[in-house]
Amino acid sequence: MDWFPTMTLREKSAEITRLLRDTYHAEGPRRGHAASVPPTDELVLTVLSQSTTDVNSWRGYQALRERYGGDWEAVADAPVAEIEEAIRPCGLSRQKAPRIAAILRRLREERGSVALDFLAEMPPDEARDYLMSFHGVGRKTASCVLLFSLGMPAMPVDTHVHRVARRLALIPPTAGAEQAHDLLEALLPEDDYYDFHVNMITHGRQTCTARNPACERCPVLRLCPHGQARMGGGGDGVMG
Ligand code: SF4
Repeated sequence: MDWFPTMTLREKSAEITRLLRDTYHAEGPRRGHAASVPPTDELVLTVLSQSTTDVNSWRGYQALRERYGGDWEAVADAPVAEIEEAIRPCGLSRQKAPRIAAILRRLREERGSVALDFLAEMPPDEARDYLMSFHGVGRKTASCVLLFSLGMPAMPVDTHVHRVARRLALIPPTAGAEQAHDLLEALLPEDDYYDFHVNMITHGRQTCTARNPACERCPVLRLCPHGQARMGGGGDGVMG
């Protein structure tokens, strides 16, 4: 079956969400149900994950937890050079260590503790803006903390989500990452944010890869103009 020109964008995104869920099976907690990782851990982990692999960032996170017994107050008190040494396995440690130290120290200064649980009482936009006021915390990082740790409605857009959404023409080809967050949040129901995000990443890693997407075995090929064009079936050829 071919591309459905009569579908609305909302119908199309709902169908893509369903097909990706059927294929990759990630089904997240519903909105309002926070995951088990506390928000300060999620924030540190997400800062560590910038420009590195999941394996490396997890190594850095575990090393930091082991060194300071899982006590973020102790990390706030630690010399930056010591933090840097602990997180060296995850790469860019000279950049990430001062960022993590500055976040934890400012939190304690402003809030009396490094805990971020107070964000759960804020409206999502306010919580996001507060997180983004820290140096090194962009929209994606803030959205990860809100979605994964606080169960709040936020759609993190990483390189995979961004690329695949453009290819699927869910967002315009010219949409930047910041704009993509707003567009996808407006397009999808909040309860689908988690599944859509996680399954789009898996799809981007396993099938819709940057250089050579496997359109011939793609579960959403019939809804994808870029894939249809690559397979010789027309479409608008949205570039990745
Ligand atoms: S059809 Fe190809 S380009 Fe489109 S989403 Fe699937 S793998 Fe990606």
